[in-house]
Parts: sequence; C-alpha cells; structure tokens
Amino acid sequence: MAEPFLARLKMDDDLLEAIAKEFERRSIRKGAFSVIGAVRKTVLGYYDSDKRQYFNRDFDFHSEIVSCQGNVSEKDGEIFVHAHLIIAGTDFQCYGGHLMPGTPIFLAELHGTPIPGEVPKRVFDDPTGLFAWEWK
Ligand code: ZN
Repeated sequence: MAEPFLARLKMDDDLLEAIAKEFERRSIRKGAFSVIGAVRKTVLGYYDSDKRQYFNRDFDFHSEIVSCQGNVSEKDGEIFVHAHLIIAGTDFQCYGGHLMPGTPIFLAELHGTPIPGEVPKRVFDDPTGLFAWEWK
C-alpha cells in the first residue's frame, strides 16, 4: 500500500500534468491531493450546465495558489486528475474554477494521499454531459 507523500513539482511544468505524473510514478490510481505554491499564469474552466460545455478564462499573471484540491481516478484505463484551483494575484483578489491545461508552475508543493480499494472509473454521464464516476 502506497504511503501519503509530499513532492515538489517542477518549475514550468503544466500543473495538471505534473500532479498526474507524481501519482503515476507511484502507481497510485485512486487518491486525493492538495497543492500550494504559485503559478506563472492560469487557465480556469467553468462548466455551463445548460450548454454542456466548459468555458475557459486565461489569467495572464503570476498568482499564488491559494487552494488547489482534487482527486485521482481512471478514465479509459488511464490515470485521470480532477482539480479545482483558487488563485490570487497582486491585488489579492481570488479567482477559482476547474483547473485546465496551460497553467505553468512557478513553485508547487503537492500533498498526495492514496486511497485503498476499488478505483472509480469515469464514464460518460448523460444527465450532466460530463465524464463522471459510475454509480455504485
Ligand atoms: Zn471540475
């Protein structure tokens, strides 16, 4: 059974990919995590449930990662990271949403927690239009 872990993520790596890589290299396919640190810029998504699609917004400034948390499961047999992020810039204003690719790390500290048991699988969920965990 894998242990909880702390890892520093590499500067300029994409935040979402870097989180996935740390779980992958430890062969952890079910878990939860949090990250604190800073990013060079950010892409956040908002899911419009009427239009059934994500809208992205770019924040092209250096920000503190006030909070980033999420979970790790599987989609199509691959590790899948779902993360939400709150950032703050120089005016201390916070923005939050679904973490999208295109968010390069300045400095990031990951706290990963493996969760034992059956790995949840993401499948297309018609009521939401999202890839969600199967009902059990
Ligand atoms: Zn989300």
